[in-house]
Amino acid sequence: MYTIIIQYRSLQVCFKYMATAAIHSFHFHLLKGPATVRALSTIKTSRIEFSIRHTQRLFPLPLHFRRAMSHVNARNDEEASAKAAAANVDSGAPTIFDKIIAKEIPSTIVYEDEKVLAFRDINPQAPVHVLVIPKFRDGLTQLGKAEARHEEILGHLLYASKIVAEKEGILDGFRVVINSGPTACQSVYHLHLHVLGGRQMKWPPG
Ligand code: 5GP
Repeated sequence: MYTIIIQYRSLQVCFKYMATAAIHSFHFHLLKGPATVRALSTIKTSRIEFSIRHTQRLFPLPLHFRRAMSHVNARNDEEASAKAAAANVDSGAPTIFDKIIAKEIPSTIVYEDEKVLAFRDINPQAPVHVLVIPKFRDGLTQLGKAEARHEEILGHLLYASKIVAEKEGILDGFRVVINSGPTACQSVYHLHLHVLGGRQMKWPPG
C-alpha cells in the first residue's frame, strides 16, 4: 500500500492539472477497500494518512466521492461501537434504556403498558423510528439469549409494534428490525424492536 501511495503521489506531481479526474478516481478506489479504511482509522499518525489528507487538500474530491467515503467511515464507527458494547454484554450492567424506563432521562413515549415501553429513537433512520422494549429485561439482553420462558413477552413486543405502527399511521407498510449481537451492529444490550416506516424501504437491508 505504501508503494502504491508513493506512486500515486508521483503521479500527482507529473499530472498535476491534466490528470485530476483520473487521480480522484484512483484515490477513491484506494480509500474504498474496507481493509484500507480500517488501517487508516487505526494508524492515525502514520505517514500514509498524512499523505492522503495532504492529497485531499491539494485535490478536493468530488462531493459524491466524499459522501461515499463518509458513509464508509460512519459504517466503521457503527461496527466499532457495536463491538465495544458487546464487550460488557454478560455483565448484566444496566443500559441507557433502564434510565429511559425509570424516566431518569427523557424520551418521547409513543406507547406504554405494564410490560413494554415504546419511544422515539434518538437517531431516527426513517420518518417514523420507534423502539419497543420490555420494561423488565429478564436476561433478554438480545434476541439471541431468548428462552422458552420469554415467549409471552416476545409475542407482546411484536403486538405492541403493531399498535405503534397503527398509532403512527404507517400500518400500510412498516418494518420491524431486531439487531442481535455485534455482527448485526447491536449497540444497546436490552432487547428492543425498531419500528420503522414513513418512507419506501429498500431490500436487502445493509
Ligand atoms: P441497536 O443498534 O442496538 O439495534 O439500536 C439501539 C438504538 O438505540 C439506536 O438506534 C440508537 O439510536 C438508540 N438510542 C441509543 N441511545 C438512546 C437514547 O438515549 N435515547 C433514545 N431515544 N434512543 C437511543
